[in-house]
Amino acid sequence: MDLTGTMENTISPSLLQALKKQKYQIVGKHSAVKKCKWLHEALVHNRPCYKQKFYGIKSHQCVQMTPALFYCTQQCLFCWRAQSGDLQVTWNEMQLPELDMPEEIAEGSLRAQDKILSGYMGNSKVDWRKLTEALRPRHVAISLTGEPTLYDPLGELIRTFHSKGFTTFLVSNGTLPAKLGALSQEPTQLYVSTCAPDEQVFKRVCRPQLPDAWANLQETLGLLPSFRCPTVLRMTMVREHNLKSAEGYAALVAKANPTYVEVKAYMHVGFSGLRLRFEDMPEHEEIRGFAERLAELTGYGVIDESVESRVVLLSAPKKALRFDDSQNNELSDASNSIFDSIQDK
Ligand code: SF4
Ligand code: SF4
Repeated sequence: MDLTGTMENTISPSLLQALKKQKYQIVGKHSAVKKCKWLHEALVHNRPCYKQKFYGIKSHQCVQMTPALFYCTQQCLFCWRAQSGDLQVTWNEMQLPELDMPEEIAEGSLRAQDKILSGYMGNSKVDWRKLTEALRPRHVAISLTGEPTLYDPLGELIRTFHSKGFTTFLVSNGTLPAKLGALSQEPTQLYVSTCAPDEQVFKRVCRPQLPDAWANLQETLGLLPSFRCPTVLRMTMVREHNLKSAEGYAALVAKANPTYVEVKAYMHVGFSGLRLRFEDMPEHEEIRGFAERLAELTGYGVIDESVESRVVLLSAPKKALRFDDSQNNELSDASNSIFDSIQDK
């Protein structure tokens, strides 16, 4: 089934045009794939993303997608997605249109990734061994934009990717704990964005569209210990907005007891340029200093960092669980038990 173009029925043509210019590949009525900068860097310059460095995810075999392209419960200042009101176009951001089936989204996403990769055929700068591997992607980052738990059959979508041999990283903003708690299939690794030390900053920076969003996030943090997969609190830091009160963030870490914490600088890309300034990006040294303070307060160890991505990894275990090739094929369903055994040590 060719789903290309069906989003035209629900979203303004000018907005779709803007996204296509940014090289989004539209999939069905509410999903999309976009070439990650690091897929390109890995293929052409042998420079992988920080998640390859931290966790062994292969950047050139990664599909960056979302099942909720235009839909979210927040309007974070630092978000690179198009938000209602951008480009003078408005829509209901919390209501997906008629849902596409998980299999359709998975197949459409893989076709979109093929299309992206076909642009590299004949490119003499590409590492051909890597391109051959890239044609067999192994990992899906359900993270591009939007809040994926707004897509009700999310667990089924994750299961569909796992059944095709993929690992999955899922990024949620945690404002819909009931949906996250009811996932029929856990991802390989679960991220919850935790981008404010208290409710006041949360309202200013994450601009929730739900009245109880902060309370909901607290509920999600309380749920994290019940997940069997590795969990991550992701803190996207914007200078002079939320890069403060390490004590407040430490209390959130204590509540969620995640496997890892990633402290990362805001990057001035996509539609965030309409809301923030270039100077709002913290330098790596600021991120590093903040992460070290957080480590002191939480007892987590600083175990890795990427200077160019301005991100520092804090971890409860001494070493991060890696998803390298040797494990990759069986990993989708086996990751939980691998992690259990690490936790037991
Ligand atoms: S894991 Fe994230 S940063 Fe790395 S290649 Fe995939 S989408 Fe890009
Ligand atoms: S939660 Fe994510 S997708 Fe939603 S507005 Fe914030 S950064 Fe964007």
